[in-house]
Amino acid sequence: MSGVPVFPSTAGGRTRTLVTGGAGFVGSHLVEHLLAAGDDVVVLDDLSTGSARNLAGVADNPRLEMIHGSILNSKTVAQAMHSCDRVFHLAAAVGVKLIVEQPLRGLRINIHGTENVLTAAIEHKASVLLVSTSEVYGKNTADRLREDSDRVLGDPLLSRWTYAGAKGIDEAFAKAYCDQEGLDVAIVRLFNTVGPRQTGRYGMVLPNLVGQALRGHPLTVFGDGLQTRCFSAVEDIVPAMVRIERDPRARGQAYNLGGAREISILDLAREIIATLDSRSEIELVPYEQAYAAGFEDMRRRVPDNTKAHDLVGYEPTTPLTTTIMRVAADLLSRERLGSDAMPLAGAGSFRGVV
Ligand code: UDP
Repeated sequence: MSGVPVFPSTAGGRTRTLVTGGAGFVGSHLVEHLLAAGDDVVVLDDLSTGSARNLAGVADNPRLEMIHGSILNSKTVAQAMHSCDRVFHLAAAVGVKLIVEQPLRGLRINIHGTENVLTAAIEHKASVLLVSTSEVYGKNTADRLREDSDRVLGDPLLSRWTYAGAKGIDEAFAKAYCDQEGLDVAIVRLFNTVGPRQTGRYGMVLPNLVGQALRGHPLTVFGDGLQTRCFSAVEDIVPAMVRIERDPRARGQAYNLGGAREISILDLAREIIATLDSRSEIELVPYEQAYAAGFEDMRRRVPDNTKAHDLVGYEPTTPLTTTIMRVAADLLSRERLGSDAMPLAGAGSFRGVV
């Protein structure tokens, strides 16, 4: 990545798209998708949790420009936005573990950084897709969370809730800029997106447990493991994000993008062990040990995807077992497991899955 941005002008009427956080897990898949669709793409990433390696497959593409910088720097944001038609804003401090450990950094990036991106978009007349999160619903355990469902948040002094708080403010900023200053913005709320390149380093459960299963280590399931999530594959999410951004009916609206199947974390661990033919066992770890005293988890988080389905035909179709195999193959191919990685009984079958 170069610290010195170069700004080739948009050629042949192609769309020029800025992706903040484009070197991250979801961002890198989006960048690949946009390049394949013919966009010129600018990536702005501070490489704090993302990695240039995530973009290795497209690094030589002449239509890709990569800028190493922070959304906290408004000059950098303005430079990156230069002659862009639209921006997908994914840069954020993410991961429950990271947020709990560094709440101040999370608040600054997720609030000040996002406002920098929104104001630069207005100035450059670029449209925005703000990527938000199911965390905004907090502890609401409704059967199906709709976009207008209530938010149920805990004590704001608990760092666990700073992410949900900051993302809620981001959405409110986006709506206010849309209503008062004409910003063309749509919002998506991602529910536990999973897939290759996601790292378990910041607490995300699926790559964490897959890595443990590959090593033959115990799978650490927090609490009683009966909390549930609906995991959605990045391959299903990315095309829907692009279609939503393009649709004029999405302006000023929020859309859930989540998985269809509700599964407990305990069952997820069992499914990972079975899929990877691992000899690992499952270990229940108390929340206080996993995070900090007083940590609050979401007991359940189930999306209603109807709104995105009705707008752009969003349908989560990738089975969880396919994602587990893809994540395992990715971890093995990237040698992220370190020297204690154990060859798997069925490892050969992962080849060609990705
Ligand atoms: N979790 C777990 N073991 C891990 C990491 C996470 O049991 O190694 C749990 C976590 O407590 C939560 C669920 O898995 O109940 C999903 O966690 P993640 O951080 O991936 O996403 P969240 O839905 O909490 O944002």
